Amino acid sequence: MKQVTGACLYCGQTQMIEVADDCNDPEVYDRAATANCKCDEALRVNAEHQVSETFKQNVESTFIENHQEVQDIFKFAAEHLASGKIAKLTIKIPDKRFKFEAVRKANGDIKLVVETKDKEEIDT
Ligand SMILES: [Zn+2]
Repeated sequence: MKQVTGACLYCGQTQMIEVADDCNDPEVYDRAATANCKCDEALRVNAEHQVSETFKQNVESTFIENHQEVQDIFKFAAEHLASGKIAKLTIKIPDKRFKFEAVRKANGDIKLVVETKDKEEIDT
């Protein structure tokens, strides 16, 4: 590991970060600095990223295990759901026993609803 300087993508504040010895990409430095920065915009984006990652993990849960295409679409939309650009995404499949829904809640979390004969909900 080596110490380099990265700048927050939002406020520009620089800080020392550690990267692998063979990493020479300033974009990586800046992303790492942004991930550590405590400015409002960085905190918002980092929180959204966390919601998105948690949602993707939930999508991989056993409820949707047998529906790869549904997983793919939800994962593709995860960042947009987390940022609020998409408020709700409903996926129906030919098997009418199932309906899948991702809903962005007022607090910014994403609720994953899998409707089967027994409705299940997972909050991220
Ligand atoms: Zn910042």
